Amino acid sequence: METLRQNLARAQGSRLALVGLPWDGGSSFLTGSAQAPPRIRAALRSPSTNSWTENGHDLDRPGLLADLGDLDLTDPETAFGRIQEAAGLVAQAGLKPIFLGGDHSVTLPLIRALGRAHPGLSLLQIDAHPDLYDHLEGRRETHASPLARIMEEGLVERLVQVGVRTMNGHQSQQAERFGVEVFQMAGLDRGLKLEFQGPVYLTLDLDGLDPAFAPGVSHYEPGGLTSRQAIDLIQGFEGELVGADVVELNPVRDRHGVTAMVAAKLVKELAGRMLGPAGS
Ligand code: MN
Ligand code: MN
Repeated sequence: METLRQNLARAQGSRLALVGLPWDGGSSFLTGSAQAPPRIRAALRSPSTNSWTENGHDLDRPGLLADLGDLDLTDPETAFGRIQEAAGLVAQAGLKPIFLGGDHSVTLPLIRALGRAHPGLSLLQIDAHPDLYDHLEGRRETHASPLARIMEEGLVERLVQVGVRTMNGHQSQQAERFGVEVFQMAGLDRGLKLEFQGPVYLTLDLDGLDPAFAPGVSHYEPGGLTSRQAIDLIQGFEGELVGADVVELNPVRDRHGVTAMVAAKLVKELAGRMLGPAGS
């Protein structure tokens, strides 16, 4: 945590912060996503493209996007506590964070901190899966359950899910119990216009995209969003984006780093969205 504090002190005056979360202890099927943060960073800096967002910000310009490095999450006993503490510190410093996963279990400690920092927070989730399991094989803090815990703990005002295509009986009951607004892929309106009052946090599970666009994930679920649809969702909703995570990149399955490039593109567009129209 000392490294994060030092990097945060150096980042004063920046508007956004990148924080890597090398954690896959919550994965139920395959590990590997703990290796993702450096891959996404490398893709962000790839000379094959430039550092501009589609709305006209050059993210290499000093004072915009500070990289606070990766957290040390080698001790599973302290990992969630450290993630929560880091998210709280970044919010306190007034920077809008973009977290690089890691598996989706990291969103629970992130929202434990950011739900408190932003009263009335709404959560927008892009995902093939609702992640609402009460437990998975007896475990309650895997990547299949973070949204169940978040809703039980009353950490957010609303949860809106887009891209879901694995709904089952149990999770459908959970969605109803928690009042989750689910926009499943079946029949998804291409012009979907989401509106939020107050602050919004976007949790972006890369398996929400179709595996044709993002094959470097642990769970292939065909029939998903195109890269363009995901970008349009980031750019198009009404509300103030105060934080985001991009999770579930699994470099072990990411041939030629194509999914890392998709993740980096989405990070850039999340940053552009947080910065607002260039020149404003
Ligand atoms: Mn997920
Ligand atoms: Mn998923």
